[in-house]
Amino acid sequence: MADAEIGVIGGSGFYSFLDDVTEITVDTPYGAPSDSLFLGEVAGRAVAFLPRHGRKHHLPPHRINYRANLWALRSVGVRQVLGPCAVGGLRPEYGPGTLLVPDQLVDRTKARTQTYLDGVPLPDGSVPNVVHLSFADPYCPVGRATVAAAARGRAWEPVEGGTLVVIEGPRFSTRAESRWHAAQGWSVVGMTGHPEAVLARELALCYTSLSLVTDLDAGTETGEGVSHEEVLEVFGRNVGRLREVLFDAVGALPATAKRACACADAHAGWDLGIPLP
Ligand SMILES: [Zn+2]
Repeated sequence: MADAEIGVIGGSGFYSFLDDVTEITVDTPYGAPSDSLFLGEVAGRAVAFLPRHGRKHHLPPHRINYRANLWALRSVGVRQVLGPCAVGGLRPEYGPGTLLVPDQLVDRTKARTQTYLDGVPLPDGSVPNVVHLSFADPYCPVGRATVAAAARGRAWEPVEGGTLVVIEGPRFSTRAESRWHAAQGWSVVGMTGHPEAVLARELALCYTSLSLVTDLDAGTETGEGVSHEEVLEVFGRNVGRLREVLFDAVGALPATAKRACACADAHAGWDLGIPLP
């Protein structure tokens, strides 16, 4: 039996999720994930929690080993992933405390490996084929609906849909960049949503982003711009109800064998050349 079926990757300000956990270390062909996996149970479901930046927040967004993180989760049985993250709001109405469940993503990162399927041999000698998967809809529709319903059930009206633009970081945006992102019609800006979502797709995992707005991004207001303290302070204020929403969502997600979305069939028509864990 698998150790877990649902994975939660916690972001800045969110370093623990479950109370009663078994800590395990997992190695992958891509190296070590950000931290141990913390296995526990929520609503009768086996869950694996992984702090995205490491439990001491020692990894900036561009140094996170995203490939190892997703691979490690899949290797313990995870097939559905919930990814809470701190983001900046690009519209005045998306102020601190807004929960946005995006349905689109724009990649503005610069130097991150965003595929497993690149023809580069793995340490065991196996060679993944070069594969081009569909990513038109980057997030799991079932996961998005489940999270939105869970938030509503906790009287936290979410913004359903919207575009998360992911920047390289670790610095925050300039005012000009922020105004440009807003002018494109994008909703929120973060630093970790990519390549997390696309790597989940390559592993045929369901992936859902829970984007918690911690600040209005630099160009949206005339103040001092964003500070890391501000991000952590707002995240800390909302971490309790975010945890409740995650608990409810975990309980409401379909069983692995009953996934009705297309995520599990992401590889249809392709030979990956390597077995997935
Ligand atoms: Zn799915």
